[in-house]
Amino acid sequence: MIKENYEKIKKEVGDSAHIIAVTKYHSVEETLEAYEAGVRHFGENRVEGFIEKRKALPEDAEVHFIGTMQSRKVKDVIEDLNYLHSLERESVAKKIETAAHHIVNCFIQVNVSDESSKHGLQPNQVEDFLETLSQYKYVKVIGLMTMAPHTDDESVIEDTFKGLALLRDQVKEKYPTVTELSMGMSNDYQIALNYGATYIRVGSKIMGS
Ligand SMILES: *Cc1c(COP(=O)(O)O)cnc(C)c1O
Repeated sequence: MIKENYEKIKKEVGDSAHIIAVTKYHSVEETLEAYEAGVRHFGENRVEGFIEKRKALPEDAEVHFIGTMQSRKVKDVIEDLNYLHSLERESVAKKIETAAHHIVNCFIQVNVSDESSKHGLQPNQVEDFLETLSQYKYVKVIGLMTMAPHTDDESVIEDTFKGLALLRDQVKEKYPTVTELSMGMSNDYQIALNYGATYIRVGSKIMGS
């Protein structure tokens, strides 16, 4: 099933975006099944799952940290942390800077839809944060990340993804490393692709629910 699911999405996406299979609710065995099916990007939102999946997967697989990162946990994952999708606090960047021996590719999480329940910076805080981070040697901001509201109203989802793309275009002029867009999940990745997503994070539509 995982193989069919992945191949179907792969066909839709083509080369336009990287597909991250979110394995947070799934076993090591199922994660390896996804690897066999051709998946090379995996997403985990907790430290324990990240470490467990990283250990089990072959070296050419990339495990992305997509959940909230607590600064005191950075040291537990830093050796294997190559992609962090949820950077929003300087305290986390500081920990990375002191613990890392390699560059960590980061996405700044942005609360485009301004829901109080959501993590992320307000769009108007992003530029100041980028200015602060520009002094860091091991924190490289490669893009922006957002989560759309859970709604059937497609126009709300479109506005969210469009907003992130516009913000990226805006900040890229001054911070040219900020090129990527991490947006789109099982329910809305097709919309995200329409607005230029370069990383989609798909859980249930690949791994099953
Ligand atoms: C769980 C999760 C996903 C995947 O969600 P699905 O709806 O199962 O595709 C994507 N991004 C983040 C940050 C997540 O926590």
